[in-house]
Amino acid sequence: MSKLTDINYVKGILQKNGFTFSKALGQNFLINPTVCPRMAEMCGADEHTGVIEIGPGAGVLTNELASVSGKVVAVELDKRLIPVLQETLAEHSNVTVINDDAMKLDFHKLIREEFPDKEVVICANLPYYITSPILMRLLEERLPVKAITVMVQKEAADRICAAPGTRASGAISAAVHYYCDPEQLFRVSAGSFLPAPKVDSAVIRLNIRKEPPIKAADEKAFFKIVRASFLQRRKTLSNSLSAGLSMPKSAVIEMLNAAKIPLNARAEEMTMQQFADITNASLALR
Ligand code: SAM
Repeated sequence: MSKLTDINYVKGILQKNGFTFSKALGQNFLINPTVCPRMAEMCGADEHTGVIEIGPGAGVLTNELASVSGKVVAVELDKRLIPVLQETLAEHSNVTVINDDAMKLDFHKLIREEFPDKEVVICANLPYYITSPILMRLLEERLPVKAITVMVQKEAADRICAAPGTRASGAISAAVHYYCDPEQLFRVSAGSFLPAPKVDSAVIRLNIRKEPPIKAADEKAFFKIVRASFLQRRKTLSNSLSAGLSMPKSAVIEMLNAAKIPLNARAEEMTMQQFADITNASLALR
């Protein structure tokens, strides 16, 4: 068993390097030894696969990913963790650590250069403060990856995985379902982290689709409609769209009528197909 499953060993290395946890960087490190092996096992990697990890922290998940996959590239923003990672991952020759910001890094270039002949998956215990923007970035860039397996806060997992047309859905649910087929894998209690966050987490896997499940005539217009629809989720769709798209109410009513959507409907009741119908109606009425 790796030394990295021993919390006292990890704490010792962090202490030796004078490391203190940064709340602003979402630094809640996993200390439950059962979680990382499960994540690594379920992320879809094998010896022929390359893995991109975002935020390796002290390297506990990286260590498991390196054991099950062909190669791991881990992107860590906090430069104080680089010497820590050099020490904790010393036994793995198939790990590259990059000190960079995952919100800015060119992932297409990274995949081309680091994994020219490998199928790639992404696996991460995400820093909570960038859950939605980083997921949206990874999806919208249409990276050539098979799946994205991430630990996120439980509420975020529920929202991300909720099917459009159901009560828990939001703009991110529609975007996620457009690009992938999401699955909730397992829950992780707040006590599994150091320091412990206030809420539980969950691991989800986003299996990337080859084709979107619906056809919208214009993808950009589709996402604009989705975002505008959820801007004021307590209001009716016609009010949200009018405010979100800065469109006169009469034009929104014409658009919803053309798409055969009831005027008192709410965003959370809309299926992907209905969002596509509204998009197509808006383009036809331009
Ligand atoms: N993987 C480790 C674990 O499971 O114990 C640490 C996970 S911790 C929730 C998130 C990690 O992401 C931290 O190491 C933090 O420094 C790093 N991080 C925060 N913002 C980042 C960014 N924009 N790009 C890359 N890494 C980031």
